[in-house]
Amino acid sequence: MSISLIINQIKEIYGPNFIPLHEPTFTNKELEYITDCVSSGWVSSVGKYVTKFEEDLASYVGVKRAVAVVNGTAALHIALKICGVQPNDEVLMPALTFVATANAISYLQATPHFIDVSYDTLGVDATKLATYLKQQSFMKDGHCYNKETGRIIRAIVPMHTFGHAVELETLQIVCDEYNIVVVEDAAESLGTQYKGKMTGSFGKASAVSFNGNKIITTGGGGAILTNDDTLADYAKHLTTTAKVPHTWAYEHDEVGYNYRMPNLNAALGCAQLEKMTTFLAQKKELTERYQKLFKGMEGVKLFTQPDHSDSNYWLQTLVLDPSIYERDQVLQELNDNGVMARPIWTPMNELKPYDTCPAMDLSVTEDLKKRIINIPSSPVEVK
Ligand SMILES: *Cc1c(COP(=O)(O)O)cnc(C)c1O
Repeated sequence: MSISLIINQIKEIYGPNFIPLHEPTFTNKELEYITDCVSSGWVSSVGKYVTKFEEDLASYVGVKRAVAVVNGTAALHIALKICGVQPNDEVLMPALTFVATANAISYLQATPHFIDVSYDTLGVDATKLATYLKQQSFMKDGHCYNKETGRIIRAIVPMHTFGHAVELETLQIVCDEYNIVVVEDAAESLGTQYKGKMTGSFGKASAVSFNGNKIITTGGGGAILTNDDTLADYAKHLTTTAKVPHTWAYEHDEVGYNYRMPNLNAALGCAQLEKMTTFLAQKKELTERYQKLFKGMEGVKLFTQPDHSDSNYWLQTLVLDPSIYERDQVLQELNDNGVMARPIWTPMNELKPYDTCPAMDLSVTEDLKKRIINIPSSPVEVK
């Protein structure tokens, strides 16, 4: 099977020149807000755009509160902390994710515990998890313990891979049974709805990212989302050096973090957020075009949203048949021909810092890692 077939389909959409994986789109609105920000002198960690961005974001996702921070990893770190993750806890998470999910757990001296994903969503498989917890854990004093390690399994971080929502309803039922807190890693899924409700609004707290390659960007940035005012206030306190409010005194009541998003970045975010509807329509348009081009092509399947998910299609995904296409050969040829493409992440259980962490059977993860690649996904004009 010739790889040039795949290359031609992608060039059909983006033209013959170099094609990046994902590029941000800016218009005059971004310039206007940033200019206003610079003119006002308020470019750093205090200013009206931070507050506006937090309010606009909370209202967009349909949660009570948002706390803007320096990046998505910091958002995950703090989301886990305010949800009660403590040193020596275990936190369940998919083996198939970006390393930030595992790092954030480690920052709290907790241990990632890897679970398998489903073919339908590319995210955590709640049914497989239920079977696993039945054998692998026991309940004591209302907490779920890992039989093997004796540690508390405190929380789970479902991640909505490439913008496709995890089966959240089933997951919540399993987590309620075992008293496991759900903290969503919605870094890739801003704008994605699960059964008509935005991802990022299901967890006790959730994290989103506004890195340069995400669906909207603040340059670098992230946010903690929650419906709980007490948790939101605590997140704000922790991310602003845990300073006790006072006109001039430097009082800090615990170890805090300097994680607050600067006003300049928030200004960019306000402008980007206004265009979410446009971006989502453009991403859908791209999906439809790719769908037509790859339809019926042997050995390649374009991944499309599961039934429960109205996805933002952040990154377009091809699932290769390894008997026809060898992943690395495809990637090499695509990149050699000016079409930026990359493999799905190396599973976390194979990375040096995490290769001794507890893990369930990861056969789906193992299979998918050989087969999934991401292809150019920048928004295209809606015809
Ligand atoms: C992007 C991303 C993050 C972290 O975001 P940063 O802003 O880059 O720190 C976390 N988890 C996942 C799954 C991501 O894709």
